[in-house]
Amino acid sequence: MSKISTSKQVIKLVGKAIGDFSLVQDNDRILVALSGGKDSWSLLYSLLALKKRAPINYEIQAVVIAPEPNTEYLGKMASRLNSDGIPYKFIYCDISSIVTKHLTNGTNPCSFCSRIRRGILYSFASGEGWNKIALGHHLDDFVETLLLNLFYNGSIKGMSPKLAADDGKNIIIRPLVYVREENTARMAEEMGLPVVDCGCIFQRAVDSKRLWVKELLTNLEKEAPNIKNSILSSMSRVYNRHLLNFVTKN
Ligand code: SF4
Repeated sequence: MSKISTSKQVIKLVGKAIGDFSLVQDNDRILVALSGGKDSWSLLYSLLALKKRAPINYEIQAVVIAPEPNTEYLGKMASRLNSDGIPYKFIYCDISSIVTKHLTNGTNPCSFCSRIRRGILYSFASGEGWNKIALGHHLDDFVETLLLNLFYNGSIKGMSPKLAADDGKNIIIRPLVYVREENTARMAEEMGLPVVDCGCIFQRAVDSKRLWVKELLTNLEKEAPNIKNSILSSMSRVYNRHLLNFVTKN
């Protein structure tokens, strides 16, 4: 029996997430935030593959936020997008300069950057009539974020596969919720996707807490191989009666 490719497995899991969480509806106009990394490429190609066989009609466009035009990495991305006939838009904004100027002690540059990026995406989406923004967070991101909040912020708070954006105008979707990070890397390799980095000066900045949680999970997986799936499942099986904020009054 021939082995199913990782790309097909990823596409299947994206389809399952779309079904489970009603991520895509008829006539949706979906912007895919493309960074050029393995996750966002896998997300884009999965959504495009599913669109071909979907019984509903929806539109997809990739959007890339880049510091400046005519860079080598943008050229590589444009070349692949053009050759596959994928609609895209480059938006130019030197976010790392903004981050450098306004970063305060103790703030993680990438968290700050993602808030700025999110703002740019929201205003572009609402200005151009796109109603959904697809982000490339994968299963490992969901699990790590939950644990980070649990360990360091004293809250049970993770990520949602679908939520209304802060501006109330857009809907954020995260169709890679069931996809392991290692499989986005495999898919990108299988499909020859041009994984690039933007050369940002903060790329080497390490989020030590996230790194620690990542390593912790890697070690725990040796003892409990299904641990990440179990943690992800726990996010949809919350028993409020057994938590502190639902204590019976009388
Ligand atoms: S590495 Fe740079 S561009 Fe990437 S998220 Fe961090 S600050 Fe933003």
